[in-house]
Amino acid sequence: MKDLHHLSAAEMGRALDDKRVSSVELTKHLLARVAAHEHLGAFLCVDDTAALQQAQAADQRRAAGERGALLGVPLAHKDIFVTQGLPTTAGSKMLGDYRSPFDATVVHKLTQAGLVTLGKLNCDEFAMGSSNENSAFKPVKNPWDASRVPGGSSGGSAAAVAARLVPAATGTDTGGSIRQPASFTGITGIKPTYGRCSRYGMIAFASSLDQAGPLAHSAEDCALLLNTMSGFDERDATSAQESVPDFAAALGQARAGATAAQPLKGLRIGLPGEFFPAALAADVNGAVRAALAEFEKLGATLVDVSLPRTELSIPVYYIIAPAEASSNLSRFDGVRYGHRAKHYTDLLDMYKKSRAEGFGPEVKRRIMIGTYVLSHGYYDAYYLQAQKLRRMIADDFQACFTQCDLIAGPVAPTVAWKLGDKSDDPVANYLADIFTLPASLAGLPGMSLPAGFATQTDGASMPVGLQLIGNYFQEAQLLHAAHAFQQATDWHARTPAGF
Ligand code: GLN
Repeated sequence: MKDLHHLSAAEMGRALDDKRVSSVELTKHLLARVAAHEHLGAFLCVDDTAALQQAQAADQRRAAGERGALLGVPLAHKDIFVTQGLPTTAGSKMLGDYRSPFDATVVHKLTQAGLVTLGKLNCDEFAMGSSNENSAFKPVKNPWDASRVPGGSSGGSAAAVAARLVPAATGTDTGGSIRQPASFTGITGIKPTYGRCSRYGMIAFASSLDQAGPLAHSAEDCALLLNTMSGFDERDATSAQESVPDFAAALGQARAGATAAQPLKGLRIGLPGEFFPAALAADVNGAVRAALAEFEKLGATLVDVSLPRTELSIPVYYIIAPAEASSNLSRFDGVRYGHRAKHYTDLLDMYKKSRAEGFGPEVKRRIMIGTYVLSHGYYDAYYLQAQKLRRMIADDFQACFTQCDLIAGPVAPTVAWKLGDKSDDPVANYLADIFTLPASLAGLPGMSLPAGFATQTDGASMPVGLQLIGNYFQEAQLLHAAHAFQQATDWHARTPAGF
């Protein structure tokens, strides 16, 4: 058998099924790895005692005859999901020693299914960022090259999975925060359709965009996790009343007309010209094109499509997301919870000082931009225009989907950059989101899967991700295509040296 930590979540489930290992053994093994790899900065808190109790309970459930694909499998949660037993920070000093009186719905569902929570994972402050350098506590290092970022904002989730500290983790994606870190760390992640997973208990950044999803070893893992995470929740007013198919079962379902050698026969993959601009790094382009050639071998056909407003996604997103953030973050006032300044003269001064001390620079920047674009006199010029363009971007996708079943392209214009390279240039960070923002604005499901490596001038060999975007609630089709690709390739199974 492989080393325990090299097993995917699905493989761990099967090992538990066959009694080759117990949940307590798995949990102890991974807790020791988490402790040994603290230098990565992936975890913000770990609770060994609680994890071992959950593992014991999972073993007892199995001993009593219960089965479950992930019953007893360890994982960890992005620290943007509130948890009853563990502190929640959202990567911010603002929340101080906050402890939630309840679990986020996604956490609750995974815990009920018997997954074992090892701890909470580092992230950009309030999920704002593309490199995890905006965490108020510490940056996260990329396991493939510790001098590089893991991507963001779910950087802790991605690094923990890539370093094989956990087989799977939760993340959230507002404008790319599952797909981009998955791409930068060579793992698989999916952002479901907006509304597929409940936002209840997910600390809000931009409510019309925020969506939870899994990061794991493979499409199979993502399918299993999504089976548990998805579904209508009456506590979330934007939760979709849409039935949830068995994503894992769909992986093995043959397409009409498909053969064993060509499992994707008949699948039309659209390539938007705008996703392959001249500025795209040549090595990223090369790996993505090679992955697409593999899809062709598997029977898919590639068709040219157009998403003409791709570039506009950046200004549109960076108006709408800060607008919503400025409203959502007004609740952090030093009164109800979180950080309160020690010295102040009156109520207004207390608000000002608490917020000035509690929030980091990127969060303050977004609150200011958001307040500005929503203010009288600018609302029509910025916010309303952005909303109109958002609709057009969504319509562009629907035009594409008359010609293809899935859309493919790179996840990001480059591989993971060096820590510090863009940390004093917010706009450089924003520009790196160009390929993930369109699907977020349209509310469409998107995933990132490992597609190869690119050797950098400093000798580092960094993972490259391929992005697949599907139509609304077509996660099963995305996962099916990704799974077929992963059956034929082994990029997703590669691990960074030393891990
Ligand atoms: N990088 C984007 C931002 O900074 C997306 C973040 C996210 O998806 N949470 O807003």
